[in-house]
Amino acid sequence: MSEVWNGFRISSPFGYRTHPITKQRHTFHTGIDLVKKHLAPIEAFISGRVLFVGMGQQGSGFGGYGNVVLIQDAIGRGNVYAHLHDVSVRVGQTVKKGQVIGRQGSTGNSTGSHLHFEVRKAASSNVPYGWIADRPNNCVEPTAYVDAYKEPVKSNPVPKPGTGGKITLKIDGRWGPQTTRALQDAISTVTDGIISDQTRNQASQAIIGVEFGNGRNGSLVIKRLQRIVGSKQDGLIGPHTVRAMQKHLCTVQDGVISTPNSLMVRTLQRRLKIGNLK
Ligand SMILES: [Zn+2]
Repeated sequence: MSEVWNGFRISSPFGYRTHPITKQRHTFHTGIDLVKKHLAPIEAFISGRVLFVGMGQQGSGFGGYGNVVLIQDAIGRGNVYAHLHDVSVRVGQTVKKGQVIGRQGSTGNSTGSHLHFEVRKAASSNVPYGWIADRPNNCVEPTAYVDAYKEPVKSNPVPKPGTGGKITLKIDGRWGPQTTRALQDAISTVTDGIISDQTRNQASQAIIGVEFGNGRNGSLVIKRLQRIVGSKQDGLIGPHTVRAMQKHLCTVQDGVISTPNSLMVRTLQRRLKIGNLK
């Protein structure tokens, strides 16, 4: 477990689970449930601007969330802090990472005092912020997101997600530097188009035009990709990682990136283009 949730106990992870209240199976948990003590101060995990504060109303995208603080980070994603007992920030305020935003509580649909933390993509929606019915596609795995999050450097502003930003990516099934750059942008690492520290192996040969380093530590962008697709995080693209990517992208799982036009790479490019890798 990473140190992302330092001081918290995870009481329910992100993803599919049996719902704690309705007992319905295979419901999607859109965030992570974190527990300190009841009324413990809750600090922002990521800096940003407060977009919404208050009791989540049905139909607002925050129904059942109780007392909510919504903070938009510099990448444009919505960081949702829910079930708070009370709130100590106001709308429009800039909040620094580590700043107290409220206290842990049990407001809204909650089985006990905890923090529900959720990261939403900016969505094309009419409701206040980032709500779409397809929740797994609108919510990001929060542990990887917070862990990978870096404040953008002023000279290198991060484009608005979902717009494709400054990255023009052709969906051609060839994994070249542009695909690497789009992947780096999606995963919030440097966007230099180079997979560094990647030992050349059989699978990497199949990726046309990708620049690789000669390191043994594995590439950071590949490690983060491996975390998303659920394969061993060694930072090296091998058949196991390719197979996990294929599973994640719902293409044929043969562990091979075919050339010159790979269906998996095309699917990856399409997902990167619409800002929906996770
Ligand atoms: Zn929750």
